[in-house]
Amino acid sequence: MERLEIKQIDHLIEDIQRLKETRKAIILAHNYQLGEIQDIADFTGDSLKLSQKAAETEAETIVFCGVNFMAETAAILSPEKTVLVPDPAAGCSLADTINIDQLKTWKMKHPNAIVVSYINTTAEIKAESDYCCTSTNALKVINAIPSNKEILFLPDIFLGTYLQTITGRKLQLWPGECHVHASIRPNVVNNLRGQHPEAEFLIHPECGCLTPSMYYLANGDISSKDTHILSTEGMIRRAKESSASRFIIATEVGILYKMKRDNPRKTFLPVNPDAVCEYMKQTTLDTVYKSLKEMIYQVKVPKNIAVKARRSIDKMLELT
Ligand code: SF4
Repeated sequence: MERLEIKQIDHLIEDIQRLKETRKAIILAHNYQLGEIQDIADFTGDSLKLSQKAAETEAETIVFCGVNFMAETAAILSPEKTVLVPDPAAGCSLADTINIDQLKTWKMKHPNAIVVSYINTTAEIKAESDYCCTSTNALKVINAIPSNKEILFLPDIFLGTYLQTITGRKLQLWPGECHVHASIRPNVVNNLRGQHPEAEFLIHPECGCLTPSMYYLANGDISSKDTHILSTEGMIRRAKESSASRFIIATEVGILYKMKRDNPRKTFLPVNPDAVCEYMKQTTLDTVYKSLKEMIYQVKVPKNIAVKARRSIDKMLELT
């Protein structure tokens, strides 16, 4: 994008808007997308909410600016729509830690266990799971499972360990983690908070990069004073309504774009400006344009997998 002149960018955006109408399309942008992608999106948010919103629209085409498993979730919830992902190489290091053969082998070793999968998983993994969950509702899902039942929790070991600490219940945990979390360690958080003691500390664990912060908090590695664990909407609301003028945000840097745009008089400091998910930055105006023009790359989830995956998502939604 750096090489494009402003005029070219304006033309590109006009072309995208024109193609959007022709294709009866909507554009969804995950919070971690580049600012220019968030600006052209019909909806921005976290992966599940985006897929739910898209399913409610009359659009025939969904352009999902995010990573692959998110576009799959959109395809599962909107089987009659065409779902495009502008860059098919946009993966997720957390979702990639477990494949379907590994899950089947794990299940064979624990034949009576209930499988709970974090939303950052492929459609195949969701289809082999009893429940899906997000970081916001994971506790509810675990508490809804009878205490005499063994639980396999995957793939996020930090979210799983957090749930173990909070519930006091032993879970079988898959050792998966997101590579971005390594830049958001307790010492980095505590140093920055020491420099800005008046700032509120907001944790946004809607992707695997931030679930470790929930674990650090539960363990006392991060102070709970003036600390809020918030969903995307909760975070945006808190930034607007709080009397604080300075916030330290534990998140991938993408969500700061919207917070700064909506609250120009307030200061938002990322815990670590290097906490960047490079997969999320692969989508550009160019790739969105090409995707809509050529109707590439379509995300197709086979019907038998989509139906089973939908069941695990619906079971989660029934509890929330
Ligand atoms: S931040 Fe981590 S968990 Fe989220 S999409 Fe990127 S790699 Fe996956």
